Amino acid sequence: MIIAIDGPAASGKGTLARRIAAHYGLAYLDTGSLYRAVARDIRHSGASLEDAAEAARFARTLDASTLSDPGLRDPGVGDAASIVAKFPEVRQALLEFQRAFARSAPGAVLDGRDIGTVVLPDAEVKIFVVADTEVRARRRYNELVSRGEPVTYEGVLAVIKGRDDRDMNRAAAPLKAAADAHVLDTTTLGVEAAFAAALALIGAHQSR
Ligand code: C5P
Repeated sequence: MIIAIDGPAASGKGTLARRIAAHYGLAYLDTGSLYRAVARDIRHSGASLEDAAEAARFARTLDASTLSDPGLRDPGVGDAASIVAKFPEVRQALLEFQRAFARSAPGAVLDGRDIGTVVLPDAEVKIFVVADTEVRARRRYNELVSRGEPVTYEGVLAVIKGRDDRDMNRAAAPLKAAADAHVLDTTTLGVEAAFAAALALIGAHQSR
């Protein structure tokens, strides 16, 4: 079984995807970590995030063993990732890695922005996770504060809005729900309730 989970920043899709993968014993890939790693590498090199050719070069030579680097979760990296993610050459370079991951496992859960629309359009189950912008900003703010990061709610909200705008309005593989995706709104749902709702969607699909 291949499950595609997409949605905007801090919608809860990563937590949900991890839980679903563990529940069904499926492999899991956080595809945002690929774009984050490209952003990290280009920053370390001193090149500009707006340099499409350099970004594509880093995407093509990405070392998959660095994808669990905790530095990928640093504030600013997600935003930088959304800048390099707009380049079609970068997306193309990362596409085969994602498809190969899904193919190599007996079953997999991938989360990102374009899994159901571009990466795995034939996925058996597609879930598009949404939540109100302010609620997502509050969640991200709480997460960063608990890690001791010096952030403000207003600052986090502005970054999330900027990222949504970039991810939804880029020409290459913009963030949008696939026509056959189930939309799951987690605005008023805690982690457990969102997980239960996702299991119900997947269960209904399996019993078809
Ligand atoms: O999911 P996460 O917030 O870690 O993703 C970081 C950025 O990477 C996103 O804002 C988006 O621009 C980009 N991304 C993407 N396509 C994916 C996953 C992430 O464009 N499948």
